[in-house]
Amino acid sequence: MKRYLVKPKSLVDLSTHDPRDSGAFDGGKKEGRDHLAKLVARLEELQEVLYAENRHRVLVVLQAMDTGGKDGTIRSVFGPLNPQGVRVASFKVPTPEELAHDFLWRIHKQTPRHGEIAVFNRSHYEDVLVVRVRSLMPESVWSKRYERINAFERILAEEGTTILKFFLHIDLAEQKERFQARIDEPAKRWKFNTADLKERKLWPEYVRAYEDALSKTSTKHAPWYIIPANRKWYRNIAVATVVLHTLEGLGMEYPKPAFDPAAIVIE
Ligand code: ADP
Repeated sequence: MKRYLVKPKSLVDLSTHDPRDSGAFDGGKKEGRDHLAKLVARLEELQEVLYAENRHRVLVVLQAMDTGGKDGTIRSVFGPLNPQGVRVASFKVPTPEELAHDFLWRIHKQTPRHGEIAVFNRSHYEDVLVVRVRSLMPESVWSKRYERINAFERILAEEGTTILKFFLHIDLAEQKERFQARIDEPAKRWKFNTADLKERKLWPEYVRAYEDALSKTSTKHAPWYIIPANRKWYRNIAVATVVLHTLEGLGMEYPKPAFDPAAIVIE
């Protein structure tokens, strides 16, 4: 999955990233689903140790264009994990109280505690994405935020939080299909909002804003991955694989018991 990693200080051009890529998987959906099941089973084991050890904190940031698959990724990759150790935080339009504070205030409060995986469904990156594209703040404000985001993430990392950031990359044609499905299928209509089409018209502006954010904020301690996301099953595999390798790399262990198991007899 290294090839999806955005190298620090590299310039991202999204047109060179194929959203239909499915890596080495040519067996298609069925093979993909079977593989995901294995990855998720291993993730469940590792999460158990993470929770038991109560030492590491893991932050997963999910960003995408509308219909990009944040919800589906959360359901498929993180849904099967022990809910006691996973928390999803969704960041919507800021409330008046949130707006009365600095843009990282509401974010910091949702960062993971020891033993926990926090999944951000949208994040502080909205403050350099929608805020920039929609001119909710002047450029003099949002342009300074990349550096602040890097500083904030460095603090989290140096204090012991492992950070992974995923941009779920779909193309315009795929978004059209997914919107159409939300209109056609009664059970999906609740997800559709006519205002979404206005955002869709701003696609090129969002691409530019994403390219800038990905270029400026992928760091060693908080790397971005550009995940090909047109194929949902491959998107899930790619995200699960990166999370899995990262957890494997933490060298976690169950805590040593504070008693001698051989010496205990339960009457
Ligand atoms: P989602 O699309 O994530 O499923 P919603 O449909 O409720 O959830 O959309 C959340 C909205 O909140 C998005 O349009 C997003 O751009 C907006 N939003 C999130 N963070 C901010 C922010 N900091 N400033 C302005 N808008 C934001």
